[in-house]
Amino acid sequence: MADSPSSAHGDQALLLPCHECDLICEVTIRHDGQWRYCPRCQHPLMRPAQDDQLTPALAFTALLLLTLSLLFPYLGFEKSGIERAISITDAAQELAVYHHPALAVIVLATIVVIPALYLLSVCWIHMSLASPRPLPGSLFLARWLPRMQPWMMADVFAIAALVSLIKIIAMAHIQLLSAFWTFSGFALILLITVTRMNTIGLWQRLLGDLQQPPQARAGKTAQALGLIGCEWCGQLQPLGQSHHCHHCHSPLHERHPFSLQRVWALLITAILCCIPAHLFPIMITTSLGKTEPSTIIAGVMLFIRHGDWPIAVIIFTASVLVPFGKILALSWLCVASRQQQALDMNSQMKLYRLTEWIGRWSMIDVFVVAIIVALFQMGNILTVMPGMGGVAFSAVVIFTMLAAHQFDPRLIWDQQQQLPPTLEPEHQP
Ligand SMILES: [Zn+2]
Ligand SMILES: [Zn+2]
Repeated sequence: MADSPSSAHGDQALLLPCHECDLICEVTIRHDGQWRYCPRCQHPLMRPAQDDQLTPALAFTALLLLTLSLLFPYLGFEKSGIERAISITDAAQELAVYHHPALAVIVLATIVVIPALYLLSVCWIHMSLASPRPLPGSLFLARWLPRMQPWMMADVFAIAALVSLIKIIAMAHIQLLSAFWTFSGFALILLITVTRMNTIGLWQRLLGDLQQPPQARAGKTAQALGLIGCEWCGQLQPLGQSHHCHHCHSPLHERHPFSLQRVWALLITAILCCIPAHLFPIMITTSLGKTEPSTIIAGVMLFIRHGDWPIAVIIFTASVLVPFGKILALSWLCVASRQQQALDMNSQMKLYRLTEWIGRWSMIDVFVVAIIVALFQMGNILTVMPGMGGVAFSAVVIFTMLAAHQFDPRLIWDQQQQLPPTLEPEHQP
């Protein structure tokens, strides 16, 4: 194996496989704050090199803010002389009280547990990098960092809290308590920390420079050269030699195994879950002895009747348009990736990336229900309970997210038999 090549200007140049189209790209590492993109599909190959001390400091601050958010009350309200304050954990706890433990686990895992594990891992890995000997578990945690990322939904919960406030502001006097501000700060700093993480750079610092196989060449696909690129650390290695990356030990896949079959299976499950998600109530309101179940669509109609158009549009988009749009988009991508005729691959990639990015935002409605159920526990005056629709709807969101992650975008580009010569480094601008 040859070492990493160097460019004419002395900057270190790496040959990196693009995870989304399989093209081997020459990436020059410079501290110029610029992102490096794949010339074929425009996938970001490498984030700019960052100040390494700031990332763990941000992660630690976010952890501190999360701890404070769990210790203090989040929202308070007063209605008919009754005062009540709820904490973040109450939002999950009340769901468990009403026999929806699965929903409680999903809420707690996505807004507290997974983000906390992610931030602790970032701190641990950076401590390991600063110590003379690697700390135990740092490689394992580095492998899990990118896998945890899509399931962190603190920002979605923060937006859901704002939607809940608009929903209930006319019904009760609402107070934003200390944990509201600390949690919003935590969600923001978590986002910044995630944006700063440079996975390839992290692996290089943990395990040293990537080794380049002699046959590796920019402007060709890894598959065409008999190579396979690790999706996580970017190491190129000969095809069929091992099922695990020799650099970071993550599983290696030339293409995701049974990608389309898995996507179809998950999409069919999501479609089946759509039926109870829209037939059963998402929440049940009991006020002065009168019980009123409310489905997702009924909730949207209620907002329209009250003239709350912006909220009606947000809930309708997040709960109806996005999940159905995502199912249709993924189904179309599965069909299109099997067709040999020339299709607009860049449009397919834009649709795939939008599908992958937007999925988690559908959880807004589930979080709104969790907040409202936690707030409105006032006995006979007003009690809100979660309905079966919420559980089924969460399943729709999770199955469509899993389907998007199972789809291998390299299948889209496999239809292109001949690569344009402009992808060779000497033709690139
Ligand atoms: Zn690419
Ligand atoms: Zn690897």
